[in-house]
Amino acid sequence: MTTNGARASRWTAEDTGQSIRVEPPIPLVDLVWQHEQIAADVIPEVFQVMSSGAFVLGSTVAAFERDFADFSGSRHCIGVANGTDALELTFRGLGIASGDAVIVPANTFIATAEAVLRAGARPVIVDCNEHTMIDAARVAESLDHSVRAVVPVHLYGQMADMEQLVETVGESGVAVIADAAQAQGASRRGEGIGWLTAAAATSFYPGKNLGAYGDAGAVLTDDDELASRIRRIANHGSDLKYVHTEIGCNSRLDALQAVVLRAKLQRLREWNNHRRRAASRYNELLSPLAERGLLQLPTVLTGNVHVWHLYVVRVRDRDRIVQAMQEAGVGAAVHYPTPIHLQPALRSLGYRAGDFPVAEKLCSEILSLPIYPGITESMQERVTAVLERALHARTKDRS
Ligand SMILES: *Cc1c(COP(=O)(O)O)cnc(C)c1O
Repeated sequence: MTTNGARASRWTAEDTGQSIRVEPPIPLVDLVWQHEQIAADVIPEVFQVMSSGAFVLGSTVAAFERDFADFSGSRHCIGVANGTDALELTFRGLGIASGDAVIVPANTFIATAEAVLRAGARPVIVDCNEHTMIDAARVAESLDHSVRAVVPVHLYGQMADMEQLVETVGESGVAVIADAAQAQGASRRGEGIGWLTAAAATSFYPGKNLGAYGDAGAVLTDDDELASRIRRIANHGSDLKYVHTEIGCNSRLDALQAVVLRAKLQRLREWNNHRRRAASRYNELLSPLAERGLLQLPTVLTGNVHVWHLYVVRVRDRDRIVQAMQEAGVGAAVHYPTPIHLQPALRSLGYRAGDFPVAEKLCSEILSLPIYPGITESMQERVTAVLERALHARTKDRS
């Protein structure tokens, strides 16, 4: 994800030939704006942590874990080093290891599959549906004795159809583990991101809806036993200092990150509401283009409160459109351009182009438009104008 805090003052005038236009670029996400909102709260607390000498775990981390568990409607929150570790630790906590398989969707960030491999297990990739969510029918076809878990990804900021997945796995004992890296604050039928899971893993990478000032992540679960196992593995296999009951790893949350996360968490509802209003505004601005068949608007599953980590439309000739938008100073991007089964790093799994037609088609059409707390109506109007111009340029070239 591009992190671009560009400001008008750092932008020089563009000579268009007839007149001088001063238009600051519109980034994909603006983390500087977020910092400005919390700076007054965070800076004294950062100094307090510095003078306390407690930098790893400790009371600040425990306080954040309590806050985030409550916010998400889960019993436990275990702060860890990043979202990829949160997934891996969840697999390890459930005893998933060599010889086991875990089902993941083709249209996700590589980390979903990477964490399965890091735990020693084998990812089984399945296609998604038109709503960009893991396809329950494909999950059903892939269930066999080696499958220990399935990982729906709450992609772009809305929850997957959890009821359908739980029904699909039935009484098989297969665990449902959510990859909730993009969905802090999302809900489905009034329930939080850990709903109907053994655990949900999330990421506080700076560009996520709730982002730290560096890497951080967490696991949410209602299972007391699993929570303490994950906590132990993440802390060198130890519950008690210098007593190591198993080989774990070092994946802990820093107190300085917890300070930032607590301050941002207090504003997350408001910031997610801002994203939601921005998404509605894009829907209004773009609907004339959608009606003319020039693009497809994102869909929201019934029962979902979407938190719009990304606002993703579908267009033909996407690569050209994204390039034209970037050249016009609009931080459009693609999440993600390559489905994971076609990533070179996963070649040994033996998948090929054509294996997952829905994900492959989506990857060629998806286009993420700038959305973040702090984006203004006029910025969105400009994004729309730039997109419209790019779409028309394409039509002209064709005729
Ligand atoms: C960001 C992200 C991750 C990984 O989180 P990190 O904190 O970067 O390790 C995993 N899955 C998805 C869907 C993500 O967007």
